[in-house]
Amino acid sequence: MNELASFSPDYQTARDSFCAAVRRLAWDLESYPLVGLTGPAGETLAVDIAQSTTTNPCTSTLVLSSGLHGVEGHFGSAVILHLLERWQAESSLLADLRVVILHSLNPFGFAWSRRFDQENIDSNRNFLLPGEEYAGSPAGYAQLDRVLNPRRPPAAFDLFPLQALASILQQGLPALQQAIAAGQYDFPRGLFYGGAGPASVHQLMAAHLDRWLAGSETVVHLDFHTGLGRWGTDKLLIDYPLTDQQTEQLTSWFGADTFQTNDSTSRAYSARGDFGHWCVDRFLATNYLYACAEFGTYSPYRVLSGLRWENQAHHWGQPGDSATRAAKERLRELFCPASPEWRRAAVRRGAELVAQAIGGLTGSPASRKSP
Ligand SMILES: [Zn+2]
Repeated sequence: MNELASFSPDYQTARDSFCAAVRRLAWDLESYPLVGLTGPAGETLAVDIAQSTTTNPCTSTLVLSSGLHGVEGHFGSAVILHLLERWQAESSLLADLRVVILHSLNPFGFAWSRRFDQENIDSNRNFLLPGEEYAGSPAGYAQLDRVLNPRRPPAAFDLFPLQALASILQQGLPALQQAIAAGQYDFPRGLFYGGAGPASVHQLMAAHLDRWLAGSETVVHLDFHTGLGRWGTDKLLIDYPLTDQQTEQLTSWFGADTFQTNDSTSRAYSARGDFGHWCVDRFLATNYLYACAEFGTYSPYRVLSGLRWENQAHHWGQPGDSATRAAKERLRELFCPASPEWRRAAVRRGAELVAQAIGGLTGSPASRKSP
C-alpha cells in the first residue's frame, strides 16, 4: 500500500482497515468499546489491541500506540496500517520479536475530531503516577483561562490574536507554553485538562498492559503524535530519566539528533501525567524504552488557536452547525495536514523509526544507523 492510501478519512474507516489488516496477519485482536458512546455516524467507538502470534517465546517486544490525542490518530493509524501491510508481505521482518499495537487509544476524540476524550480529558495528562494528586494548574493558567477557554460560542470576530500577543509579551513564550500545555486539573472544560481521576484509557491500560507485555525483557514503545515541532520534522521525545545504557541504545539505534530528553533545554514544555512515564514506572520489563514520536505540522500559535476554537465550539456551539464543523475540519488539518508531501514523508519516516526500533530489538545490523 502506498503511503497516501494508508490515511483514513474518518475513525470508522481507520478502525475497519486496522482490524482487517490484523485479521489478514492472523494476529490476536481484542476490542474495548466505550460504553454508551457512538461516533458521528452512530458507529461503535473502541480501543483495538493487536498482538502478533509467535511460535517461539520472545522476550523482545515492540509496542506501537496511536490516537492517544484523538484526532492525531489519523496519522498514527496511517503509519500502523502501512506497517501491517508491509509485514504481511514480509513476515520475516518480525522474526524473534513480539508486536503489540494499541490502536486509537482515544476513539472518541478520533471520531469527533478532538484532541481530548469524552470527558474533555487530555489523555496524555491523565497518567499521573501513584500518589500524585489530580489537582492544581501551572502558574499562569488561571489568568489565561478566560482567554483560552471562552464560555460562549465562537464568533466571527475574535480577540484571541491580540490577547495571545499580550500574554507572550508579558510572560515570554517558554513560560507561556509551560503554563498552557503542561496539564491542568482545575478547569474541566478547559484545554489540556488532566481529569479528576484515572480516565477510561488509563483504567484500560492499568487492567491489561501487564498481560499484553508478559514475559518481555526489553520493550521499545513508540507512541505516535503530531502537532508539535516544525513542519515535516520529527523527534522522539522522552520525559523520564534514561539510564546510560538506554541513552547509548537510542543513539545507536536512531541517531543522536533524533531524540530529545526532558532535560534538553530545547524541549518546549514538561507535561504532567504523560503516558510514557507511567508505562516506564510500572516496571513491566527490565528495559522499557518509551518515546513519544512527534511529527511537526503547523506553528504552535496556529495549533493552539485551532485547539481553542474547536474546544469552544465543542462545549458552547451547536453540534453539527457550520462553525462547529469548520472548527473540527481545521483541527484535522492542523494535526494531519492534507498535503500529499507531508503525508508521504511522515509515513515513510514513521516506518523508518519502527524499522530502526526493530533493528535495535533484534540486533539486526541492517537497520542500524551507520556511524
Ligand atoms: Zn499528541
